[in-house]
Order: sequence, then C-alpha cells, then structure tokens
Amino acid sequence: MAAQGLTILEGERAPAMAERTTLRLGGPVMGEAVLTEPAAAALLPGIAKRLGGRLACLGAGSNILAGEGPLDLVLVKNGMAPDISVLGDDGKTATLRASGSARLPVLLGRAAALDLGGLEGLSGIPGSVGGAVAMNAGSYGQCIADSLTALEIVTGEGEVRRFGREAVAFGYRAMDLPEVKGWWMVTAAEFRLTREEAGAVREKSRELLDKKRATQPVTAASAGCVFKNPSPEQPAGKLLDAAGFKGKRLGGMIFSPLHANFLVNEGRGTSTEALELMDMAKQAVFAASGIILEPEVRIWV
Ligand SMILES: Cc1cc2nc3c(=O)[nH]c(=O)nc-3n(C[C@H](O)[C@H](O)[C@H](O)COP(=O)(O)OP(=O)(O)OC[C@H]3O[C@@H](n4cnc5c(N)ncnc54)[C@H](O)[C@@H]3O)c2cc1C
Repeated sequence: MAAQGLTILEGERAPAMAERTTLRLGGPVMGEAVLTEPAAAALLPGIAKRLGGRLACLGAGSNILAGEGPLDLVLVKNGMAPDISVLGDDGKTATLRASGSARLPVLLGRAAALDLGGLEGLSGIPGSVGGAVAMNAGSYGQCIADSLTALEIVTGEGEVRRFGREAVAFGYRAMDLPEVKGWWMVTAAEFRLTREEAGAVREKSRELLDKKRATQPVTAASAGCVFKNPSPEQPAGKLLDAAGFKGKRLGGMIFSPLHANFLVNEGRGTSTEALELMDMAKQAVFAASGIILEPEVRIWV
C-alpha cells in the first residue's frame, strides 16, 4: 500500500526482524512503513490500529534483539534523504546538521574531513543518526549527548517539532522528550563541534577503530554490547568473563571469545537461544557478584 509520503509493507509482505537487524534474529512484524514526508506521519496511528500493532521506530537495527514473533509491531523507517550540512563555521567551532536517516559513520567521516572534533569517540558504531540519538550512543568516554545542541522530531500528528538540548532527557544509553506525549521519531539532529589540528580527528578515529577491531568482533552478527556496564570499574564484559561466559555457547548463539559482552549469532542462532543465554548469564553474574545486569540491547518480544 502507498499513500503520499508513505509506503507500507503489510501482511505476507511485512518483513521479519531477522531481515532488519544486525543480530539477524526475530520473526515477522505486522507491517513496515517507510516515511518519505513528515506530514504523512499523521497516517501512522490509524495504520497501526488497522494492522493491530504498535509503532516502533527502526534505524539501522544495530541495537535490537527481536523475539520469534509474530510481533505486534509496525516498524517505522525514516526514508527521507540522509543529508548532512554545515550550519555555521566560525573557524573554531562549527555546527553540523544531520538527518536522522544519515548513517553515523558518514557523519563522523564528514566531521573528520572538516577537522571537527567531538564525535570521534563514537567511531565504529554502525547505527543511524536517529538511532544514535535515541540510544545516546557512546564509547571511549564520549556520547552523542555531549555535542548535541538541538534535534527535530516528527510526531504521530505529522507535526515537525524542534527542541534545544535542554528539553532532551539523556541517560546512559537512553533518551526521552518529556514534553512530548505519544509516538515520535527523531528526524534530524545538530552537533556543535570543535576545530582541531589538521588531520587530528581522522587520526584519533583511526586509532579508536583499530582498537575496536582488535578487541571486539566488529564484523560478526551482533548488536554490540548486550548488557549495560554497571559501573566504569565493573564493565559487564569483565563480570561476564569472571562468571565463565566468555565464549559460552547455546545453540547458534555465543558470547564472543574476543569480548564477553558481545552476543554473536553464528548463523543459525535463534531469538529463544539468545534470550535464554542472556538470562543464564544474568543469573551467573548475580550469583558470582551480587550485581544485576541490565540489557543495553532493546528487546522486542
Ligand atoms: C558491531 C557493533 C558495535 C557497536 N558498538 C556500540 C558502541 O560502542 N556504543 C554504543 O552506544 N552502541 C554500540 N552499538 C549498538 C548500536 O550500534 C547503537 O545503539 C546505535 O546507536 C543504534 O542505532 P540504530 O540506528 O541501529 O538503532 P536501532 O537499532 O534501529 O534502534 C535502537 C533503538 O532506537 C530507537 N530508534 C531508532 N531510530 C530512531 C529514531 N529515528 N527516532 C526515535 N527512536 C529511534 C528504536 O526504536 C530502538 O528502540 C554497536 C552495535 C554493533 C552491531
């Protein structure tokens, strides 16, 4: 079905989450809407009602563990142009604006080409800009909230709204807009970045990427770290390793022998195995340390 500014896959044409996530797990959803004009978002609540699912924003699917399904979800993908532009540059600082549909690595590449620092800690994170904002993605002590100055959303009424940083409630791998009720999707974000010496940002990014490649299974089917770090001193990977879960396998799912907090689908893994292995790990870590691990990956069941 297509309406102006929106295309929808539903019924037998609706995708399985395994086709939409980097973990390659999960069963069919009720439908998938691709939004190409903000105003068409006003149609989404009615479509969700008709299909019997709730609306769920989908970026690059790199932080989602979906259940076997069928899942009562109607995915909403941002099909608008993945633009990145410079809003202002006074030589010392510059503001970059990126569409929610732009890929985060592309935004980082653009910042590095302009010698703009402030996002390079996020090197190697494979999501979309919208997903990175929604997750407050981060690594190496830097997160997206550090440089974000404003964002734009589209609501289920088809309204585009802009918010300054002060209206956004960021947490550890979490973000909310307390002023907005109902469904919304991040459609753009702005970042104030600082000019560094020529080549320095690119060099730093390369260093961090090399470090990730050496310590994380970056090319495997995963969703990155599946558990949040309880504290900087006690990262989840260390706790999982101590509880004997580094390299622990269940069916086709394994906690990576390279980094214990990366749950990897070796090819034939299932959502049931993934969820069970996470549960086993959680119990073992609690038994060994008294610490309750919380999932970082978004679990859609
Ligand atoms: C190899 C690998 C390494 C990773 N390393 C890191 C890391 O170092 N640090 C880190 O933080 N993460 C890491 N991740 C996890 C993931 O890449 C990030 O969380 C990323 O920001 C998710 O973006 P996405 O577009 O894939 O979002 P999705 O996975 O598609 O969605 C994640 C959540 O955000 C919501 N969402 C997505 N788009 C929007 C939107 N436009 N508006 C509102 N809500 C939205 C979804 O509904 C969902 O709840 C890694 C993942 C992989 C596979």
